[in-house]
Amino acid sequence: MSKCDKCEHKSVIMLQHGPLCSKHFVSYFENKVFKTIQKFKLINRDDIICVATSGGKDSLTVLYLVKQYLKRQGMDSTTLTALAINEGIADYREKTLEDLRKFCNDYDVDLTVATFEEHLGATLDEAYPKINKITGKKPCNICGVWRRYLLNKYAKKLGATKLVTGHNMDDESQAIMMNMCKANTSLAAKLGPMGGVAAHEGFTRRIKPLYLCSEKETRLYTFLKQWKVEYTECPNVIASYRAEIRDSLNQLEEKYPGTKNGIVKSFLDMLPLLQSRELNKDSKYSGPQTCALCSEPSNATECNACKLKTILDGVNNE
Ligand code: SF4
Ligand SMILES: [Zn+2]
Ligand SMILES: [Zn+2]
Repeated sequence: MSKCDKCEHKSVIMLQHGPLCSKHFVSYFENKVFKTIQKFKLINRDDIICVATSGGKDSLTVLYLVKQYLKRQGMDSTTLTALAINEGIADYREKTLEDLRKFCNDYDVDLTVATFEEHLGATLDEAYPKINKITGKKPCNICGVWRRYLLNKYAKKLGATKLVTGHNMDDESQAIMMNMCKANTSLAAKLGPMGGVAAHEGFTRRIKPLYLCSEKETRLYTFLKQWKVEYTECPNVIASYRAEIRDSLNQLEEKYPGTKNGIVKSFLDMLPLLQSRELNKDSKYSGPQTCALCSEPSNATECNACKLKTILDGVNNE
């Protein structure tokens, strides 16, 4: 490795604008996150922040840096809470939750853990084969619906006005490509550093402070901070469409560095157009309905989480 661009020390990473040593990389990375929060106006002074966290590298990083940001801005960092969902994935989630409990304890953050089992009557491992038998859905499709459902429900319960997620540039470039490949422009309009097209009281607005940070940068940051982080992936990720898109983008990035950054930056240019098209299209749309079964916001009479639960209950009663 060559010398850091800013000092005499050995570099630990080669970025597009040059090599950086560990000290200069850490401050570059932290500044990038703080600037992202400010540039996209992700946090207001009166916001109550809840961080959706799994104990993985991205969520620990965002939890730590949002807390630092609040402190730097002279805002009340004691109201910040962490929220984790235990989906019930054997040999995986318990390990990351263990790291998370320790982390929250070390950094004095209140942690709430909601489980699929308690709220939906089954772990993901139990529910997946039963729901798959009827619908053909993959684990991530089921997990995603229930996870979003519980995150929103609990964020509201905790009084949060913003829900922080650890989505990084790699995640976002994958989501953009997935929606493009499936011609899902309505869903694409909900992406961006602040998720959703318009604010609605039924939903807690999601924000992504790591939006402009690559997976590689976040990994190096957690390594340099010497946090205990489980780097293993969820065993279900191999079965997902996202994993295929991820691998293709990684290949392109290897060959043409800056590809993911290019996808995200071009998407940011297009996003206002996509969002205004959605708002105009939905001018007669009066916002989400209330699910007839659970009273949570929903795009139909019953929410997707309840629909999946009904299918599961049906199989259990066979
Ligand atoms: S990889 Fe799929 S199953 Fe695993 S936690 Fe993520 S969404 Fe859930
Ligand atoms: Zn340096
Ligand atoms: Zn419901």
